[in-house]
Amino acid sequence: MTEPVRFVSTRAAGPGSVTISDAIRQGLAPDGGLYVPTRLPAVDVHALREAVRLPDVARGALAGFFEKDPLEPQLGGIVEAALDLPAPTTAVGAARDRLFVLELYHGPTAAFKDFGARFLAETLARLESSAPRPLTILVATSGDTGGAVAAAFHRRAWARVVILYPKGLVSPRQEQQLTCWGDNVLSLRIDGTFDDCQRLAKEAFLDAPLAARHRLSSANSINIGRLLPQMAYYAASSMQVERLAGGKACYVIPAGNLGNAFAAVWARSLGFPIGRIVLAHNANRTVPDFLESGQWRPRPSIATIASAMDVGNPSNMERVRAQYPTLDAVRAQLSADSVDDAAIRARIAADFSRYGRQWCPHTATAAEVYERLPPEERRAHPWVLVATAHAAKFNEIVEPLIGRQVPVPPSLERLLRMPRHVRDLPATLAALGGALE
Ligand SMILES: *Cc1c(COP(=O)(O)O)cnc(C)c1O
Repeated sequence: MTEPVRFVSTRAAGPGSVTISDAIRQGLAPDGGLYVPTRLPAVDVHALREAVRLPDVARGALAGFFEKDPLEPQLGGIVEAALDLPAPTTAVGAARDRLFVLELYHGPTAAFKDFGARFLAETLARLESSAPRPLTILVATSGDTGGAVAAAFHRRAWARVVILYPKGLVSPRQEQQLTCWGDNVLSLRIDGTFDDCQRLAKEAFLDAPLAARHRLSSANSINIGRLLPQMAYYAASSMQVERLAGGKACYVIPAGNLGNAFAAVWARSLGFPIGRIVLAHNANRTVPDFLESGQWRPRPSIATIASAMDVGNPSNMERVRAQYPTLDAVRAQLSADSVDDAAIRARIAADFSRYGRQWCPHTATAAEVYERLPPEERRAHPWVLVATAHAAKFNEIVEPLIGRQVPVPPSLERLLRMPRHVRDLPATLAALGGALE
């Protein structure tokens, strides 16, 4: 019999593995590293080919990670409650082009972050509901994570949510989604960039007395509880594309902290029919430069119109490098390209006139990176663009480019009418400590 899967820090040497429950509850490992599984469990991919609903695929794909964990009997309930969201893979253009888009924007806050945030909330609800003191979910956001986490944790008695977002660097509708909650959600507008927000959150977690006092936990993609459910939509989508178009589906994924992309890498390692994985970056080139030069040079982020990907020091790279220690090994898993704002804007306009599709700036980044692939590469496989947010979240950018209004999904419409609750804060740990009181 094989040992159940355990989770270790990307930094720790030697023993000290934890269960999935503990890895999710802690978020960041005590040594500041990120949790990774000791091995990837075997999945009977063939048995899942008949599954149609995302919760069913998720249950099959994730069962091995929960084996022998206290949450094992609850996984079915967790995925039913968290992942009962549409995630269709639809054709773009003519069928013979074998180009698709994986639409991850049908959740309550219209971005893919809903999948991970809801899974995390349902998981923690089962671990925490009888805890004596509430957990504080501290989340640094470049725009979409905070809203998704707030929506998933709003009015849960066992939790409090504290959102850190960069002032002036998120879209107006994103800001509304970050601040429309109140109750157990505290929204802090930080005088700094997303990197400052991320640094502040990390400093708070590593401040042991502060972390213990508030029972701090993370909902960023450093938390493995966000990455696991994201594998489910790649699993379902790749099996669907294989049925429809033949061959392994290749994905172009808008990338910031690489949480979404890394879930695709794991889904492929589990045996789902996924071919190439290409990372689409905006002008923040840290990862493409690394793949080209082999030098890992994190840097300050640059503000772009695909702002949820404005990350200069992508946190999940630590997982990639732990799992694939040599440059050649990383290159075998991933390739990457970077495009600037002008190209993103041009792509939004061009694909609207050619296909009638409305891309958000992040999705358009992927569409542009796809267009830049060699034509023979594009013809050789079915390709899937990953649509990470609804264009209506970025209406101020998209509408002038396509010359019409973007219809607002009803769930988003409701949030746009709610009143705002927000506090301004300087980017210091002392200020954050004060706000947490
Ligand atoms: C968060 C986000 C991304 C980047 O995802 P990562 O997992 O950080 O790479 C891309 N697009 C949108 C719309 C996002 O909200």
